Amino acid sequence: MRLYNSQSRQIEEFEPYNKECVTMYTCGPTVYHFAHIGNLRSYIMEDVLQKALEFVGYNVKRAMNITDVGHLSSDGDTGEDKMLLGAQREHKTVLEIAKYYTDAFRKDCQMLKLRWPSIVVPATSCIDQYIEIISTLLEKGYAYKSGGNIYFDTSKLKDYYRFGNQTADDMVVGARDDVDEDTGKKNKNDFVLWFTKSKFENHALKWDSPWGVGYPGWHIECSGISYKYLGEYLDIHCGGVDNKFPHHTNEIAQTESFVGHPWCKYWFHVEHLNTKSGKMSKSKGDFLTLSKLKELGYCPMVYKFFCLQSHYRKQLVFSFDTLEQTKIAYDKLLKRLANIKEDNSTIDKNEYDRLKNQFAQALENDLNTSLAITAIFDTLKSDTTNATKIALIKDFDSVLSLGLVDALNNENKEENTIDDTLVQYIEQKIEERKLAKQKKDYALADSIRAELQSKGIELVDTKEGTTYKIK
Ligand code: AMP
Ligand code: ZN
Repeated sequence: MRLYNSQSRQIEEFEPYNKECVTMYTCGPTVYHFAHIGNLRSYIMEDVLQKALEFVGYNVKRAMNITDVGHLSSDGDTGEDKMLLGAQREHKTVLEIAKYYTDAFRKDCQMLKLRWPSIVVPATSCIDQYIEIISTLLEKGYAYKSGGNIYFDTSKLKDYYRFGNQTADDMVVGARDDVDEDTGKKNKNDFVLWFTKSKFENHALKWDSPWGVGYPGWHIECSGISYKYLGEYLDIHCGGVDNKFPHHTNEIAQTESFVGHPWCKYWFHVEHLNTKSGKMSKSKGDFLTLSKLKELGYCPMVYKFFCLQSHYRKQLVFSFDTLEQTKIAYDKLLKRLANIKEDNSTIDKNEYDRLKNQFAQALENDLNTSLAITAIFDTLKSDTTNATKIALIKDFDSVLSLGLVDALNNENKEENTIDDTLVQYIEQKIEERKLAKQKKDYALADSIRAELQSKGIELVDTKEGTTYKIK
């Protein structure tokens, strides 16, 4: 397996600390709102990464946190606690919204056929672990108390910046941060490990600590949970690119200072899903969820297919036009799969190995999922036996989890699948309308559109041609 490592900024051969068991940590959601489809892009790619590692023979132990405390509305230590804001917005308690949105996230994962990691831990359940780490950091001189809070002292590290994506402003080491009067930081990028006295006096969740009643900062939770459940050496740490700085930079600073040696080998960062107007973000409020897509007639597998067709290190721009094209392609794929019936044929070993290798090589090449999808289509095109095709599709779906096996068995005809004659009918009408427009017979073109409309089929004209939505 060759993977891009954000720390070295190059593609590296994957060599885990212990070949018997790969450890993988995923930054989980902040459960103050629904996950948006951008967040889900990250979780889709992380799930494929885990399954791809298993496909090539590794055992993977994976842990994920659920952020239910400490994440402020800036990713630094300013702003308000996102959980508190969510609770106020919905007139509920912090724990109520944490439960509600954790359940909603789990449902999203199920709909996307993402495996729930074997270790999923709410941040509020590991307070003792954070206290242990912070106490050691204070003893070792990496942390200090100021203004009632405990801070990590970034000036103690020679190589605090690890990902090279900071702005010039981020890089001002040693400068006092006078922007927020409440902070007692010595250096601009020092960050809170434990809040005891802060502007959030009405903070809902508080715990006793050697430094007074308070609550943990955001970054310490991932260091604590990862250390507690995966040990002092970590193979892969995942998250969206926005987590590189300050979150992951700070995780490295505190964990390595605590354990006293290098910690995580590979950093896997998923690029953002953007809308035409910029990054999709929960705090902006106007984001798309999986349920919203379902309401609009797009099943979760269509969104997943859309994500897997592009590389995880490239920004992906979401548009309904592209999603519509993806839906048509996905429906066609399912139909072709449904036509592969089990018969008495046997597996053609050469062809099976060839296509399986093609698929594996795509994944081993920095998780190239779009090339892996090409292996599906090459399998369908191959004139090999049905038994070979079925065996391959099962293998591919064990990694991509795109509902391909369901389609083979033809059990789960998702609501977005439509029958062949209807597709042919619509495609013929689209063609007739195109010809009418070429002949400038706009009355005929409009009547074709209206005819389809009356049957619940809406035509959508895009740069690439005309597609349709079925209501
Ligand atoms: P949050 O719930 O805000 O803590 O984010 C959960 C995960 O989604 C993190 O790994 C983020 O880096 C990631 N993320 C946030 N926004 C996007 C986006 N627009 N596209 C892809 N991943 C994102
Ligand atoms: Zn994290």
